[in-house]
Amino acid sequence: MPEPQHQSHPQPRRIDLHTHSNVSDGTETPADLVASAVAAGLDVVGLTDHDTTEGWAEARRAAEVQGIQLVPGIELTARQGWTSVHVLGYGFDPQAASLLELNATAQRERLERARTMVERLAADYPISWESVAHEAHGVIGRPHIADALVNAGVVPDRSAAFQDILRPDSQYYVAHAAPTPLTVVMAIAEAGGATVLAHPAGRTRPLDEPVLAELVNAGLAGLEVWHRDNTAAGREWLLGLVNRWNLVATGSSDYHGMGKPNRLGENLTSESMFERLARRAGFPAFP
Ligand code: AMP
Ligand code: FE
Ligand code: FE
Ligand code: ZN
Repeated sequence: MPEPQHQSHPQPRRIDLHTHSNVSDGTETPADLVASAVAAGLDVVGLTDHDTTEGWAEARRAAEVQGIQLVPGIELTARQGWTSVHVLGYGFDPQAASLLELNATAQRERLERARTMVERLAADYPISWESVAHEAHGVIGRPHIADALVNAGVVPDRSAAFQDILRPDSQYYVAHAAPTPLTVVMAIAEAGGATVLAHPAGRTRPLDEPVLAELVNAGLAGLEVWHRDNTAAGREWLLGLVNRWNLVATGSSDYHGMGKPNRLGENLTSESMFERLARRAGFPAFP
């Protein structure tokens, strides 16, 4: 009997392509995150820490031992005018000069901005730079300031901090410089990878269609359609764009461990969309 060409999977694989470890603002180590992904019944998990690839090695080792497929990725912070834009990258060379430069700059900007925010906050709340830095294990962000506020008893949890003290319109908020999404999409393309816009129809003003078209022309592969931050109307709009421009539509949890209510696998990416993304990013979908 000839061997079947493709051993088809008994059930559709459960694919979640957007999660964070404590190397950025998640609460679990990369290895623990991988264990959580196994426990959640995932077959494929993407690690997409903010502005860093430092978690890849540990996650890879854990994934190999625990028998789950890891897709190493990143979520890069960009800004277009007043709109904050998050760009997910997959299948790129983390040592590419374009990437190293973007990450180094982002991390420097984040540090400086966190210091200024903490200076402002320390005038009114019992937190210090040390108490905030203690919460960060890699790339720092507002969630670590939130953790220090929680530890000081100022707020009950991260979400409460974000609803009030850490909001962009708060007197304590400081913005940090960020590249445009076009720069980020081109940098990941140059590093041999593919990009997907994270939660593109969420709480902040979405990008205009002409800007999105420009990103698609520059190589943007997909849109994260199924994400809890996208509004229902926003998802419909995104699906229209996916059809019009033949894009990859992904679904993901944006899991941050205990740092956010998002649960692993709450949104999934279909096998066929994942195969298309993998082809665009140049890695085997199901090795
Ligand atoms: P930053 O990049 O420093 O401006 O912080 C933004 C990060 O805070 C995002 O990546 C989110 O993961 C996180 N975040 C935003 N809103 C919340 C929330 N309500 N609760 C917990 N974390 C949040
Ligand atoms: Fe985050
Ligand atoms: Fe994001
Ligand atoms: Zn994220």
